[in-house]
Amino acid sequence: MHYESTRNNKIKKTFSEVLLLGLAEDGGLFVPKKWPKISKNEIYKFKTMSYQQIAFHVSKKFINGEIDDKNLKKIIKKSFKSFSKKEIAYPKKFDENKWLLELYHGPTLAFKDYALQVVGNLFQYVLKREKKKITIIGATSGDTGSAAIDACKNKNTMELFVFHPYKKISNIQRRLMTTVKSKNIYNIAIKGNFDDCQKIVKKLFVDVDLKKKFSFSAINSINWARILFQIIYYFYSVSKIKSKNKKFIFSVPSGNFGNVYSGYVAKKIGLPIDKLIIGTNKNDVLSTFTNKGFIKLKNVKQTISPSMDIQLPSNLERYMYDLFSKNNDLVKIKLNELNKNKKVFIDKNKIKEIQNYFKSSKVSEKDTLKTIKVFFNKYDIILDPHTAIGIAADKDKKLSNRSVVYISTAHPSKFSETIKKVIKRKVNLPTKHKDLLKFKENYKILNLNYNKIKNYLINKSKFVKNV
Ligand SMILES: *Cc1c(COP(=O)(O)O)cnc(C)c1O
Repeated sequence: MHYESTRNNKIKKTFSEVLLLGLAEDGGLFVPKKWPKISKNEIYKFKTMSYQQIAFHVSKKFINGEIDDKNLKKIIKKSFKSFSKKEIAYPKKFDENKWLLELYHGPTLAFKDYALQVVGNLFQYVLKREKKKITIIGATSGDTGSAAIDACKNKNTMELFVFHPYKKISNIQRRLMTTVKSKNIYNIAIKGNFDDCQKIVKKLFVDVDLKKKFSFSAINSINWARILFQIIYYFYSVSKIKSKNKKFIFSVPSGNFGNVYSGYVAKKIGLPIDKLIIGTNKNDVLSTFTNKGFIKLKNVKQTISPSMDIQLPSNLERYMYDLFSKNNDLVKIKLNELNKNKKVFIDKNKIKEIQNYFKSSKVSEKDTLKTIKVFFNKYDIILDPHTAIGIAADKDKKLSNRSVVYISTAHPSKFSETIKKVIKRKVNLPTKHKDLLKFKENYKILNLNYNKIKNYLINKSKFVKNV
């Protein structure tokens, strides 16, 4: 088992290298050379295993002995310690053949915790072993930042600088980041929008002067280890759900194509998934890709499901690599075309292949809000806007022979202002966060001035080299 780049299959990297590098040197994304297999018999055995045990068995196939069994088990155990439900991922049956897979029981109440908690501990383990220290920089529009901060806090091999747009994220989202007390975490509010924050991070990454002073890293969703630990809850839910139907359908509210791509990998390595439904908001690149076979880039539109407000879903490159039968040149040709013309067509005969795996619908804000309201009245369950999109995206009414799992990506209290408008009721934070509004916040507000921001980084960093 080794890893190659979507843009060059001559590159050979180990799991640890892929973990620390994030992105390949050629700008491509890392993927395994070959898909490992998980047999029917292995999946059958998962029925009696815990989430952590399944995580160990599945991830071991991708780690190739680079972390010994004892330490891998320890890392996984530690990573799920602060989850508030013993099942970790909880499949809640709400109707005949229908489940909500609750993925918001982690420390920051969104599904990103499920992979990032493990990734933080994997980083710490590998960096210690290699006697390295890294500076992680990242921009956030909400959920990624808090999940990354919780995953990196109090770890001595890394420091983390997180940029968020000043006054442009929700109160709860900000507080989940700024109330964390840890010496290696720096929260910076930039007087600009999310795109400005992302541009700053990209500029810091390629700054020649800073390259000498820092070992930079990122833990955004291009990191293979994040994809890997999102595969687990697909296996876990199929093993735990008791249903006569053998056909499983997952509906996934999507932005960067990370979550649903993990479902694709789960199917590739042996999980009996019939179809993956991709729900999008009006940022609809993924639904036009699936239904019409082209990608067209537009400006990002702000919606009530902000974690899905994405222009080009970065993990799509991983899927295209498979779709084009691992032809690096074709991947590069298509990406160049997309860069140049803001539009690219996929060959007609490939559309069928895409639709073998995926279905997709774009869901309007009106329908999202309506789904929240109807669901509350019918089932007494409060959905967050992202989860509601996944539910509304499933248009198939023939229910009898299928089991549908709707992935619930965030706790509704993270988006209480939006929800309150339709159900006329406040959504409380879970008990473990009940004091979140009382804690002292700690963050620095900076103007959108590259040199000021750069100097702030140099002055605050404990890992900066004097060159
Ligand atoms: C990140 C996020 C998504 C989108 O997931 P992708 O892996 O980027 O497709 C959906 N919902 C919530 C709540 C998120 O935080």
